[in-house]
Amino acid sequence: MADYDYDLYVIGGGSGGVRAARMAAGLGARVALAESGRLGGTCVNVGCVPKKLMVYASHYSEALADAADFGWIVGESRFDWASLQAHKDAEIERLNGIYAGLLEDTGVTLHRGHARLVGPHEVEVEGTRHRAAHILLATGGRSKRAPIEGNTLANISDDVFAWKQLPKKLVVAGGGYIATELACVLHGLGAEVHLVHRRAELLRGFDADVRTHLTQEVRKRGLHLHMERTIERITQRGEGRRIELSCGTTLDVDVVLSAMGREPNTEGLGLEDVGVELDERGAVRVDASYRTNLPSVLAVGDLIGRVQLTPMALAEGMYVAHELFGEGGALIDYDLIPTAVFSQPEVGTVGLPEHEARERYPELVVYRSSFRPMKYTLGARDERALVKLLVDGATDRVVGCHIIGPDAGEITQGVAIAMTAGATKRDFDRTLGIHPTLAEELVSMRTPVANT
Ligand code: NDP
Repeated sequence: MADYDYDLYVIGGGSGGVRAARMAAGLGARVALAESGRLGGTCVNVGCVPKKLMVYASHYSEALADAADFGWIVGESRFDWASLQAHKDAEIERLNGIYAGLLEDTGVTLHRGHARLVGPHEVEVEGTRHRAAHILLATGGRSKRAPIEGNTLANISDDVFAWKQLPKKLVVAGGGYIATELACVLHGLGAEVHLVHRRAELLRGFDADVRTHLTQEVRKRGLHLHMERTIERITQRGEGRRIELSCGTTLDVDVVLSAMGREPNTEGLGLEDVGVELDERGAVRVDASYRTNLPSVLAVGDLIGRVQLTPMALAEGMYVAHELFGEGGALIDYDLIPTAVFSQPEVGTVGLPEHEARERYPELVVYRSSFRPMKYTLGARDERALVKLLVDGATDRVVGCHIIGPDAGEITQGVAIAMTAGATKRDFDRTLGIHPTLAEELVSMRTPVANT
């Protein structure tokens, strides 16, 4: 590889790109990475990290409201949006620095600027060309603009993290991960939230019980859900926005937040010039080893749009580094992906939803329990948790786990380890519970739901 400047050139300093660059450098490769924005990508700057910090902030309203049930006399409380934003910005700046330090420590050369492909082995950054044996595209994704009249008047999720003030009243459009999470967060922080979604329930693709349960609980918490409705038009009204819904209702709000899916960041990368193929969704087409149709050009993360989750981009980035410069790695299992939706209440899920499990496992056995978590038993809060296990009757293996309730995401990570190791229902049953916890329900369910 002596006639190349680098063994690997990574375009994009988000989760997938940075992980691949660090791993490759650790395996002895000469690596450079180009990033035009802040290091850390969507996750660190306008995604998982600032969102989760806001989720924590939002939970205080519930804690303060319930405190009296546990004997606390709490004085008047007031939420200060500017203060949360300032603390969040400082933390993100710290993380940007950590990412830069990680690259430097592993010997990755960082090029600041916009990079584009100019050949199968060549990248141009701010007028300078670099030749590399392999090029990894990891430029992530961005929010899609929905085909709604006046959609440029809507904000997207990136904007929330830069808002100078919390809107008093807003419309959140969509019913997926981002809409559900941000609607709950902003409601918890004190905004009047109207969520408009074209379906009857949130989170299409999730287990049907999860969707029904979560939609009910979110409604109980006081969010205004306008289900089976679409937005016909958004217009300016003074400083605010007017929304016309398909049912004829009009809503006047401060802000419209559109969360209608994300698309791969393929623009300006030189893909057409060099002949990198895209798939029908506009994502970069790759094979099982993340190679594009040009063998020296690979792609990972949201740019290939398989599963738009940070841990997937990390896993794909690591796979590429080991495949190119190590001893190769095991193919990633796209069936057992743990995920959490940081809604209120929280959702944790790993494995298959029931509708998919039934197709794959004809002898499916379902265990389901819905109950009031102990955390809410002293007060008036009428919130129920859901724990659901799906078991393949033929092998006794647990093939799906779905939890709604406090810390569902944290609990699910542990279950994901057991399921990755191939745990059976018998293994769950012989595991001692931790009492009293919500999670002990996972090892106490003995009676299956009758087959319908
Ligand atoms: P999703 O695909 O999850 O949701 C998009 C929503 O927009 C859906 O409810 C969809 O409706 C609706 N929608 C799309 N087009 C239209 C339209 N033309 N008219 C009306 N409604 C429409 O995307 P998100 O933007 O919420 O999130 C993108 C990805 O980011 C997620 O898939 C997830 O992988 C990742 N993410 C993960 C998080 C986590 O791990 N906690 C948090 C946030 C994001 P319908 O359901 O009918 O298709």
